[in-house]
Amino acid sequence: MSEQGFTTKIVHSDHLLELEYGAIHAPIHNSVPYGFQDVQGLIDVFQGTKPGHAYARSSTPTIDALQHKIKQMDNGIATLVFSCGMSAIVTTFLTLLKTGDHLICSHYLFGNTRSMIGTLQGYGIEVTFVDSTDIEQVKAAQQPNTRMLFVETIANPATQISALDEIGDFCEAQGLVYIVDNTLTSSYLFDAIKVKASLIITSLSKYVAGHGNALGGSVTDTGLFDWQTYPNIFEAYRTGDSKMWGIGQIKKKGLRDMGACISSQTAHLISVGSETMELRMQRQCKNAGILAEFLAQHPKVAKVYYPGLKDHPQHQRAKRLFKHFGAMLSFDLIEGEDCCELLNKLKLVISATHLGDNRTLALPVAPTIYHEMGLETRQKMGISETMVRCSIGIENTADLIADFEQALA
Ligand SMILES: *Cc1c(COP(=O)(O)O)cnc(C)c1O
Repeated sequence: MSEQGFTTKIVHSDHLLELEYGAIHAPIHNSVPYGFQDVQGLIDVFQGTKPGHAYARSSTPTIDALQHKIKQMDNGIATLVFSCGMSAIVTTFLTLLKTGDHLICSHYLFGNTRSMIGTLQGYGIEVTFVDSTDIEQVKAAQQPNTRMLFVETIANPATQISALDEIGDFCEAQGLVYIVDNTLTSSYLFDAIKVKASLIITSLSKYVAGHGNALGGSVTDTGLFDWQTYPNIFEAYRTGDSKMWGIGQIKKKGLRDMGACISSQTAHLISVGSETMELRMQRQCKNAGILAEFLAQHPKVAKVYYPGLKDHPQHQRAKRLFKHFGAMLSFDLIEGEDCCELLNKLKLVISATHLGDNRTLALPVAPTIYHEMGLETRQKMGISETMVRCSIGIENTADLIADFEQALA
Protein backbone atom coordinates (compact mmCIF):
# COMPACT_ATOMS: atom_id res chain seq x y z
CA MET A 1 0.00 0.00 0.00
CA SER A 2 1.31 3.47 -0.82
CA GLU A 3 1.92 6.03 1.91
CA GLN A 4 -1.41 7.17 3.36
CA GLY A 5 -2.53 10.80 3.34
CA PHE A 6 -2.08 13.12 6.32
CA THR A 7 -5.62 12.95 7.69
CA THR A 8 -6.11 9.23 6.99
CA LYS A 9 -3.10 8.45 9.14
CA ILE A 10 -4.27 10.69 11.99
CA VAL A 11 -7.90 9.60 12.21
CA HIS A 12 -6.98 5.91 12.13
CA SER A 13 -4.01 6.27 14.44
CA ASP A 14 -5.72 5.15 17.68
CA HIS A 15 -7.61 2.15 16.41
CA LEU A 16 -4.53 0.75 14.72
CA LEU A 17 -2.85 0.65 18.12
CA GLU A 18 -4.29 -1.82 20.60
CA LEU A 19 -8.05 -1.41 20.89
CA GLU A 20 -9.16 -1.38 24.53
CA TYR A 21 -12.70 -2.84 24.64
CA GLY A 22 -13.05 -1.73 21.03
CA ALA A 23 -12.83 1.95 21.94
CA ILE A 24 -11.79 3.65 18.70
CA HIS A 25 -10.59 6.73 20.56
CA ALA A 26 -7.74 6.03 22.97
CA PRO A 27 -9.36 6.13 26.45
CA ILE A 28 -8.36 8.68 29.09
CA HIS A 29 -6.21 7.01 31.73
CA ASN A 30 -6.12 9.12 34.86
CA SER A 31 -4.10 6.73 37.01
CA VAL A 32 -0.81 8.22 38.16
CA PRO A 33 0.89 4.96 39.29
CA TYR A 34 0.96 1.73 37.25
CA GLY A 35 1.09 -1.60 39.09
CA PHE A 36 2.50 -5.01 38.10
CA GLN A 37 1.57 -8.60 39.05
CA ASP A 38 5.22 -9.56 38.85
CA VAL A 39 7.72 -7.02 40.17
CA GLN A 40 10.00 -7.83 37.22
CA GLY A 41 7.53 -5.84 35.08
CA LEU A 42 8.20 -2.72 37.16
CA ILE A 43 11.95 -3.30 36.97
CA ASP A 44 11.81 -3.70 33.18
CA VAL A 45 9.92 -0.41 32.75
CA PHE A 46 12.34 1.41 35.06
CA GLN A 47 15.31 0.07 33.16
CA GLY A 48 13.71 0.72 29.79
CA THR A 49 14.13 -2.87 28.63
CA LYS A 50 10.37 -3.24 28.00
CA PRO A 51 7.76 -0.64 27.01
CA GLY A 52 5.20 0.27 29.66
CA HIS A 53 4.23 2.89 32.19
CA ALA A 54 5.35 3.39 35.78
CA TYR A 55 4.31 6.92 36.72
CA ALA A 56 2.28 9.54 34.86
CA ARG A 57 4.99 12.19 34.97
CA SER A 58 6.89 10.12 32.39
CA SER A 59 3.99 8.59 30.42
CA THR A 60 0.46 7.21 30.34
CA PRO A 61 -1.30 5.19 27.61
CA THR A 62 -3.33 8.29 26.63
CA ILE A 63 -0.23 10.44 26.32
CA ASP A 64 1.42 7.65 24.32
CA ALA A 65 -1.51 7.68 21.89
CA LEU A 66 -1.07 11.42 21.30
CA GLN A 67 2.68 10.98 20.92
CA HIS A 68 2.02 8.31 18.32
CA LYS A 69 -0.26 10.70 16.39
CA ILE A 70 2.26 13.55 16.43
CA LYS A 71 5.07 11.19 15.44
CA GLN A 72 3.05 10.19 12.37
CA MET A 73 2.24 13.82 11.52
CA ASP A 74 5.92 14.77 11.79
CA ASN A 75 7.17 11.59 10.06
CA GLY A 76 9.65 11.21 12.91
CA ILE A 77 11.11 8.27 14.81
CA ALA A 78 9.92 9.33 18.30
CA THR A 79 7.83 12.10 19.87
CA LEU A 80 7.51 13.43 23.41
CA VAL A 81 4.58 15.57 24.50
CA PHE A 82 4.80 18.30 27.16
CA SER A 83 2.49 20.57 29.15
CA CYS A 84 2.79 23.37 26.56
CA GLY A 85 4.95 24.64 23.73
CA MET A 86 7.19 26.65 26.05
CA SER A 87 7.99 23.65 28.23
CA ALA A 88 8.82 21.58 25.14
CA ILE A 89 11.28 24.28 24.05
CA VAL A 90 12.88 25.03 27.41
CA THR A 91 13.31 21.40 28.47
CA THR A 92 14.96 20.62 25.14
CA PHE A 93 17.47 23.42 25.61
CA LEU A 94 18.13 22.65 29.29
CA THR A 95 18.58 18.96 28.52
CA LEU A 96 20.92 19.28 25.56
CA LEU A 97 22.98 22.41 26.31
CA LYS A 98 25.63 23.05 28.97
CA THR A 99 27.35 26.17 30.28
CA GLY A 100 29.93 27.25 27.71
CA ASP A 101 27.97 25.92 24.71
CA HIS A 102 26.96 28.24 21.91
CA LEU A 103 23.52 28.47 20.33
CA ILE A 104 22.71 30.25 17.07
CA CYS A 105 19.20 31.58 17.09
CA SER A 106 16.94 33.47 14.74
CA HIS A 107 16.20 36.95 16.05
CA TYR A 108 12.68 36.64 14.66
CA LEU A 109 11.35 34.70 17.62
CA PHE A 110 8.14 34.15 19.53
CA GLY A 111 8.43 36.69 22.38
CA ASN A 112 8.33 34.19 25.25
CA THR A 113 11.00 32.05 23.57
CA ARG A 114 13.16 35.16 23.19
CA SER A 115 12.67 35.95 26.87
CA MET A 116 13.48 32.36 27.94
CA ILE A 117 16.71 32.42 25.90
CA GLY A 118 17.69 35.45 27.99
CA THR A 119 17.45 33.14 31.01
CA LEU A 120 19.71 30.58 29.30
CA GLN A 121 22.29 33.32 28.74
CA GLY A 122 22.23 33.92 32.50
CA TYR A 123 23.25 30.28 32.95
CA GLY A 124 26.32 30.80 30.79
CA ILE A 125 25.01 29.53 27.47
CA GLU A 126 26.33 31.77 24.70
CA VAL A 127 23.75 32.87 22.14
CA THR A 128 24.12 34.70 18.84
CA PHE A 129 20.95 36.12 17.32
CA VAL A 130 21.03 36.34 13.53
CA ASP A 131 18.78 37.37 10.68
CA SER A 132 17.94 33.78 9.82
CA THR A 133 16.35 34.74 6.49
CA ASP A 134 19.97 35.15 5.31
CA ILE A 135 22.12 32.01 5.30
CA GLU A 136 25.35 34.02 5.18
CA GLN A 137 24.57 35.59 8.57
CA VAL A 138 23.86 32.16 10.00
CA LYS A 139 27.16 30.77 8.72
CA ALA A 140 29.11 33.77 10.00
CA ALA A 141 27.82 33.15 13.54
CA GLN A 142 29.39 29.71 13.88
CA GLN A 143 32.02 29.26 16.64
CA PRO A 144 34.05 26.23 17.75
CA ASN A 145 31.58 25.71 20.65
CA THR A 146 28.42 25.99 18.53
CA ARG A 147 26.16 23.02 19.25
CA MET A 148 22.76 23.95 18.01
CA LEU A 149 20.66 26.15 15.75
CA PHE A 150 17.11 27.23 16.51
CA VAL A 151 14.63 28.83 14.08
CA GLU A 152 10.89 29.23 13.59
CA THR A 153 9.19 28.64 10.25
CA ILE A 154 7.02 31.77 9.91
CA ALA A 155 7.93 34.47 12.41
CA ASN A 156 5.32 36.16 14.54
CA PRO A 157 4.14 38.89 13.91
CA ALA A 158 5.94 40.10 10.75
CA THR A 159 5.99 36.69 8.94
CA GLN A 160 9.69 36.51 8.02
CA ILE A 161 10.63 33.06 6.76
CA SER A 162 14.02 31.65 7.72
CA ALA A 163 16.34 30.16 5.10
CA LEU A 164 15.07 26.79 6.32
CA ASP A 165 16.57 24.58 3.60
CA GLU A 166 19.95 26.29 3.40
CA ILE A 167 20.27 26.21 7.19
CA GLY A 168 19.52 22.48 7.10
CA ASP A 169 22.36 21.88 4.62
CA PHE A 170 24.68 23.97 6.77
CA CYS A 171 23.80 22.12 9.99
CA GLU A 172 24.25 18.77 8.30
CA ALA A 173 27.67 19.73 6.97
CA GLN A 174 28.79 21.13 10.33
CA GLY A 175 27.24 18.43 12.53
CA LEU A 176 24.98 20.86 14.41
CA VAL A 177 21.63 19.99 16.00
CA TYR A 178 18.97 21.79 13.92
CA ILE A 179 15.79 22.61 15.84
CA VAL A 180 12.76 23.92 13.96
CA ASP A 181 9.77 25.40 15.80
CA ASN A 182 7.07 24.35 13.35
CA THR A 183 4.13 25.86 15.27
CA LEU A 184 3.04 28.48 12.72
CA THR A 185 3.09 26.06 9.80
CA SER A 186 2.50 22.72 11.54
CA SER A 187 3.61 19.50 9.91
CA TYR A 188 0.66 19.72 7.54
CA LEU A 189 2.01 22.83 5.80
CA PHE A 190 5.68 22.08 6.25
CA ASP A 191 7.55 18.79 6.38
CA ALA A 192 10.64 19.84 8.35
CA ILE A 193 12.43 16.57 7.57
CA LYS A 194 12.75 17.77 3.98
CA VAL A 195 15.03 20.57 5.23
CA LYS A 196 16.97 18.12 7.43
CA ALA A 197 15.68 19.25 10.83
CA SER A 198 17.03 17.19 13.74
CA LEU A 199 14.22 18.02 16.17
CA ILE A 200 10.78 19.45 15.37
CA ILE A 201 9.08 21.41 18.15
CA THR A 202 5.39 22.31 17.94
CA SER A 203 3.04 24.14 20.27
CA LEU A 204 0.04 21.82 20.12
CA SER A 205 -2.06 24.56 21.73
CA LYS A 206 -2.34 26.29 18.35
CA TYR A 207 -3.25 24.63 15.03
CA VAL A 208 -2.91 21.01 16.17
CA ALA A 209 -5.60 21.26 18.86
CA GLY A 210 -7.37 24.11 17.05
CA HIS A 211 -10.15 24.45 19.59
CA GLY A 212 -8.28 26.63 22.08
CA ASN A 213 -9.27 24.39 24.99
CA ALA A 214 -5.93 22.75 25.75
CA LEU A 215 -2.24 23.57 26.11
CA GLY A 216 0.42 21.17 24.88
CA GLY A 217 3.79 20.97 23.17
CA SER A 218 5.79 18.31 21.35
CA VAL A 219 9.33 17.42 20.41
CA THR A 220 9.88 14.97 17.56
CA ASP A 221 13.22 13.45 16.65
CA THR A 222 13.45 13.04 12.87
CA GLY A 223 16.18 10.41 13.16
CA LEU A 224 18.56 12.47 11.01
CA PHE A 225 21.01 13.60 13.70
CA ASP A 226 23.83 11.30 14.78
CA TRP A 227 23.74 11.57 18.59
CA GLN A 228 26.97 9.57 18.87
CA THR A 229 28.74 12.77 17.83
CA TYR A 230 27.00 14.91 20.46
CA PRO A 231 29.16 15.54 23.52
CA ASN A 232 26.34 16.34 25.97
CA ILE A 233 24.67 12.93 26.06
CA PHE A 234 25.18 11.55 29.57
CA GLU A 235 26.98 8.22 29.89
CA ALA A 236 23.85 6.55 31.29
CA TYR A 237 21.92 7.30 28.08
CA ARG A 238 24.62 6.13 25.67
CA THR A 239 23.12 2.66 25.40
CA GLY A 240 20.93 0.95 22.82
CA ASP A 241 20.03 2.50 19.44
CA SER A 242 22.03 5.74 19.18
CA LYS A 243 19.27 7.37 17.12
CA MET A 244 17.20 7.38 20.33
CA TRP A 245 19.84 8.88 22.62
CA GLY A 246 18.72 12.50 22.16
CA ILE A 247 15.01 11.93 22.72
CA GLY A 248 15.86 9.44 25.50
CA GLN A 249 17.78 12.11 27.37
CA ILE A 250 15.05 14.70 26.82
CA LYS A 251 12.56 12.21 28.28
CA LYS A 252 14.65 11.39 31.36
CA LYS A 253 16.17 14.79 32.11
CA GLY A 254 13.46 16.97 30.65
CA LEU A 255 10.18 15.21 31.22
CA ARG A 256 10.94 12.98 34.22
CA ASP A 257 13.28 15.31 36.16
CA MET A 258 11.85 18.70 35.18
CA GLY A 259 8.26 17.52 35.24
CA ALA A 260 6.77 19.57 32.43
CA CYS A 261 4.26 16.79 31.76
CA ILE A 262 0.83 16.95 30.15
CA SER A 263 -2.21 15.28 31.75
CA SER A 264 -4.11 12.44 30.07
CA GLN A 265 -7.25 14.58 30.01
CA THR A 266 -5.46 17.30 28.07
CA ALA A 267 -3.70 14.84 25.77
CA HIS A 268 -7.11 13.45 24.84
CA LEU A 269 -8.48 16.92 24.01
CA ILE A 270 -5.53 17.58 21.73
CA SER A 271 -5.86 14.17 20.06
CA VAL A 272 -9.50 14.85 19.21
CA GLY A 273 -8.70 18.32 17.86
CA SER A 274 -5.79 17.12 15.77
CA GLU A 275 -7.99 14.88 13.62
CA THR A 276 -9.43 17.87 11.74
CA MET A 277 -6.21 19.85 11.42
CA GLU A 278 -5.86 19.48 7.65
CA LEU A 279 -9.47 20.54 7.03
CA ARG A 280 -9.23 23.52 9.36
CA MET A 281 -5.89 24.70 8.04
CA GLN A 282 -7.02 24.53 4.43
CA ARG A 283 -9.93 26.83 5.27
CA GLN A 284 -7.87 29.10 7.53
CA CYS A 285 -5.10 29.54 4.94
CA LYS A 286 -7.65 30.24 2.20
CA ASN A 287 -9.36 32.85 4.40
CA ALA A 288 -6.00 34.43 5.27
CA GLY A 289 -5.00 34.68 1.61
CA ILE A 290 -8.25 36.37 0.58
CA LEU A 291 -8.17 38.75 3.55
CA ALA A 292 -4.52 39.63 2.87
CA GLU A 293 -5.40 40.59 -0.74
CA PHE A 294 -8.36 42.63 0.50
CA LEU A 295 -6.30 44.51 3.10
CA ALA A 296 -3.39 45.08 0.71
CA GLN A 297 -5.56 47.20 -1.58
CA HIS A 298 -7.40 49.07 1.20
CA PRO A 299 -6.52 52.80 1.38
CA LYS A 300 -6.31 52.80 5.20
CA VAL A 301 -3.78 49.95 5.27
CA ALA A 302 -0.11 50.88 4.81
CA LYS A 303 1.38 47.40 4.65
CA VAL A 304 0.32 43.76 4.87
CA TYR A 305 2.64 41.01 6.13
CA TYR A 306 1.61 37.68 4.62
CA PRO A 307 3.88 35.16 2.86
CA GLY A 308 1.24 34.51 0.20
CA LEU A 309 1.51 38.05 -1.19
CA LYS A 310 3.80 38.30 -4.20
CA ASP A 311 5.72 41.24 -2.74
CA HIS A 312 6.53 39.38 0.51
CA PRO A 313 10.37 39.21 0.69
CA GLN A 314 10.34 35.41 1.10
CA HIS A 315 7.29 34.65 -1.06
CA GLN A 316 9.24 32.33 -3.37
CA ARG A 317 10.76 30.47 -0.43
CA ALA A 318 7.33 29.97 1.14
CA LYS A 319 5.94 28.75 -2.15
CA ARG A 320 8.76 26.25 -2.52
CA LEU A 321 8.66 24.91 1.05
CA PHE A 322 5.07 25.19 2.34
CA LYS A 323 1.83 23.59 1.19
CA HIS A 324 -0.08 26.84 1.86
CA PHE A 325 1.03 30.24 3.15
CA GLY A 326 -0.23 29.97 6.73
CA ALA A 327 -3.13 31.53 8.60
CA MET A 328 -1.44 34.39 10.45
CA LEU A 329 -1.22 37.83 8.90
CA SER A 330 -0.32 41.26 10.20
CA PHE A 331 -0.88 44.74 8.84
CA ASP A 332 0.07 48.35 9.56
CA LEU A 333 -2.50 51.10 9.31
CA ILE A 334 -1.59 54.36 7.59
CA GLU A 335 -0.31 57.18 9.78
CA GLY A 336 -2.98 58.86 11.87
CA GLU A 337 -5.15 55.73 12.14
CA ASP A 338 -5.53 54.09 15.56
CA CYS A 339 -5.34 50.29 15.52
CA CYS A 340 -7.10 49.96 18.89
CA GLU A 341 -10.05 51.91 17.55
CA LEU A 342 -10.18 49.54 14.58
CA LEU A 343 -10.09 46.47 16.82
CA ASN A 344 -12.97 47.84 18.89
CA LYS A 345 -15.04 48.29 15.73
CA LEU A 346 -14.63 44.68 14.65
CA LYS A 347 -17.81 42.78 15.57
CA LEU A 348 -16.92 39.22 14.64
CA VAL A 349 -13.17 39.25 15.13
CA ILE A 350 -12.25 38.96 18.80
CA SER A 351 -9.49 40.98 20.47
CA ALA A 352 -7.43 38.17 21.96
CA THR A 353 -3.96 36.67 21.92
CA HIS A 354 -3.43 33.06 20.72
CA LEU A 355 -3.01 31.56 17.25
CA GLY A 356 -4.68 28.75 15.38
CA ASP A 357 -8.10 28.98 17.01
CA ASN A 358 -11.20 28.22 14.96
CA ARG A 359 -12.26 31.83 15.60
CA THR A 360 -10.45 34.80 14.08
CA LEU A 361 -8.50 36.64 16.79
CA ALA A 362 -6.62 39.93 16.53
CA LEU A 363 -4.40 42.05 18.75
CA PRO A 364 -2.52 45.35 18.65
CA VAL A 365 1.14 44.27 18.56
CA ALA A 366 2.99 47.21 20.15
CA PRO A 367 1.07 47.47 23.46
CA THR A 368 0.71 43.68 23.95
CA ILE A 369 3.20 41.05 22.71
CA TYR A 370 5.92 43.69 22.03
CA HIS A 371 5.19 45.88 25.04
CA GLU A 372 8.04 44.55 27.20
CA MET A 373 10.63 45.46 24.54
CA GLY A 374 9.95 49.18 24.51
CA LEU A 375 9.63 51.65 21.65
CA GLU A 376 13.30 51.70 20.68
CA THR A 377 13.59 47.92 20.21
CA ARG A 378 10.28 47.86 18.34
CA GLN A 379 11.58 50.47 15.92
CA LYS A 380 14.84 48.55 15.45
CA MET A 381 12.84 45.40 14.72
CA GLY A 382 10.54 47.17 12.28
CA ILE A 383 7.42 46.78 14.43
CA SER A 384 5.15 49.78 13.80
CA GLU A 385 2.93 51.29 16.49
CA THR A 386 -0.16 50.63 14.34
CA MET A 387 0.52 46.96 13.64
CA VAL A 388 -2.36 44.50 14.06
CA ARG A 389 -1.76 40.74 14.15
CA CYS A 390 -4.55 38.40 13.09
CA SER A 391 -4.93 34.69 13.58
CA ILE A 392 -7.42 33.74 10.92
CA GLY A 393 -10.14 31.24 11.80
CA ILE A 394 -12.51 28.96 9.92
CA GLU A 395 -15.41 31.42 9.58
CA ASN A 396 -17.06 31.80 6.19
CA THR A 397 -14.84 34.05 4.12
CA ALA A 398 -17.45 36.66 3.19
CA ASP A 399 -18.29 37.30 6.85
CA LEU A 400 -14.68 37.99 7.70
CA ILE A 401 -14.20 40.38 4.79
CA ALA A 402 -17.44 42.16 5.67
CA ASP A 403 -16.30 42.62 9.26
CA PHE A 404 -12.97 44.21 8.26
CA GLU A 405 -14.71 46.27 5.58
CA GLN A 406 -17.17 47.85 8.04
CA ALA A 407 -14.51 48.39 10.72
CA LEU A 408 -12.13 50.11 8.28
CA ALA A 409 -14.86 52.26 6.68
C1 LIG B 1 2.56 29.78 21.07
C2 LIG B 1 3.93 29.49 20.62
C3 LIG B 1 4.85 28.85 21.46
C4 LIG B 1 4.50 28.48 22.87
O1 LIG B 1 3.48 27.56 22.94
P1 LIG B 1 2.50 27.42 24.22
O2 LIG B 1 1.80 26.16 23.95
O3 LIG B 1 1.62 28.62 24.26
O4 LIG B 1 3.40 27.35 25.41
C5 LIG B 1 6.10 28.57 20.96
N1 LIG B 1 6.45 28.91 19.71
C6 LIG B 1 5.61 29.54 18.87
C7 LIG B 1 6.07 29.88 17.50
C8 LIG B 1 4.33 29.86 19.29
O5 LIG B 1 3.49 30.49 18.46
